[in-house]
Amino acid sequence: MVSRVIPVDPFDLVIFGGTGDLARRKILPGLFRRYCAGQMPEDARITGAARSDLDDDGYRAFVAEAIREFGGGRACEDGTLEQFLQRLGYVTVDAKGEAGWAELRARVRPGLVRAFYFSVAPSLFGDLAERLRQFDLATDQCRIVVEKPFGHDLASARTLNATLARHFDESQIYRIDHYLGKETVQNLMAVRFGNMLFEPLWNAQYVDHIQITVAETVGVGGRGSYYDKSGAMRDMVQNHLMQLLCLIAMEPPARFEPDSVRDEKLKVIRALDPVDWHHVVRGQYEPDGDQPGYREDAENPRSTTESFVALKCHISNWRWAGTPFYLRTGKRLRARASEIAVVFKDAPHSIFGSEAGRHRNVLSIRLQPNEGITLGVTIKEPGPGGMRLIDVPLDMSFADALGPDAADVPDAYERLIMDVIRGNQTLFMRGDEVEAAWAWTDPLIAGWETRGDVPKPYDTGSSGPDDSLMLMHRDGRKWREIRP
Ligand code: NAD
Repeated sequence: MVSRVIPVDPFDLVIFGGTGDLARRKILPGLFRRYCAGQMPEDARITGAARSDLDDDGYRAFVAEAIREFGGGRACEDGTLEQFLQRLGYVTVDAKGEAGWAELRARVRPGLVRAFYFSVAPSLFGDLAERLRQFDLATDQCRIVVEKPFGHDLASARTLNATLARHFDESQIYRIDHYLGKETVQNLMAVRFGNMLFEPLWNAQYVDHIQITVAETVGVGGRGSYYDKSGAMRDMVQNHLMQLLCLIAMEPPARFEPDSVRDEKLKVIRALDPVDWHHVVRGQYEPDGDQPGYREDAENPRSTTESFVALKCHISNWRWAGTPFYLRTGKRLRARASEIAVVFKDAPHSIFGSEAGRHRNVLSIRLQPNEGITLGVTIKEPGPGGMRLIDVPLDMSFADALGPDAADVPDAYERLIMDVIRGNQTLFMRGDEVEAAWAWTDPLIAGWETRGDVPKPYDTGSSGPDDSLMLMHRDGRKWREIRP
């Protein structure tokens, strides 16, 4: 049912940073799964380009290992992996020097779709863009894929946008936010704009509030020193949570096309009020038994970087005036769970009396794990003894609805890479969106620095600092439970 696969055109994909962690865990296994699914034409070619000294065979061995380790899919056993590996090659390239570029130039073929994935440190994005032009690898139709983080603040994002714009048109730049590639996130748009049922209620008149939670159980572990310069606000809120907020809150785009969708998202970001700092809670996880706390993980005993943030914000437009949006994300929390919950208002009058209790419809869009959408509806508790009301879920779990086909739903990276090859930017961030998001988060971060704000400690396995519960409690609301 879901596996209707339309093959893409023949392409040359060059992965800068092709030996890195992201390539190993996500990009290469994802490409293999698309190959298995029959989406990749026979003359597709993938070239790893990085600093390590490898040849084609050495890279193929590296990729085979990555695929075995990080999910190759069921076709792994029957020779498909060997066929896929024949599509791979490798060139040792120095992003900051001259080495390797002429050879790379000789490898890419004229007349095909050409894409360059920048899976390297952001400090190299500008160098890569420049050398692609200098060595005549860039064409007017080629595409570049840029990983996160896109800048550290508004000024650096502007500089990066300007650097890329010197070499590429905006229509060639694909800024990845892998949250946009998640099946449920796209389903959110299908539910909103493909049904008559929800959109008439999708506004401040009927929606009490919206909660967005992205909870992780892992700490910052091995990437502590990188994370310590960033924190939850920069690492998660400015990009992933902001994109989810945009899709939930935007007006219906005229068409499901890149600029229609991105124009509407941009309007949401620009309509966000500045956040009152009393409405933000930051936290840092504490040590737990043998497990180090945030400061040990970050190797910075005085770190004031947050591993958790919860905030309340408002969108000042006709649709949402008066409806708060609560955002929360953190590490080492109770469960790995990401959810958007649209909490509707109470019915205006209860004909069942106060003992029936207060019941609210909640539309829960679950991103991970167990992707799916649930609508909580109120019904009568079965049996005699009067009218008692209970809430039951109308469940649209993908695993249940789609059966074994659910396993074939491509993961976010797979889908987004195929979108790059197809030339579809709908699920990628435009430069002005990224800048607007930084313009909103920058003053908050600057405020913490000026006030010398210190994050509140919280226990591993908790829901974050108590103050984050109070943020809701003060408004007579509560967070939904973080459940696996
Ligand atoms: P990594 O450190 O594991 O790999 C870096 C890659 O860049 C290596 O292949 C290395 O050979 C190559 N490289 C370094 N210097 C080079 C140079 N001068 N010339 C050519 N190649 C050079 O990094 P990563 O974790 O794979 O991250 C890559 C990018 O993806 C970063 O921008 C990161 O922020 C982003 N990202 C990573 C993850 C993840 O899970 N790893 C998640 C989201 C975003």
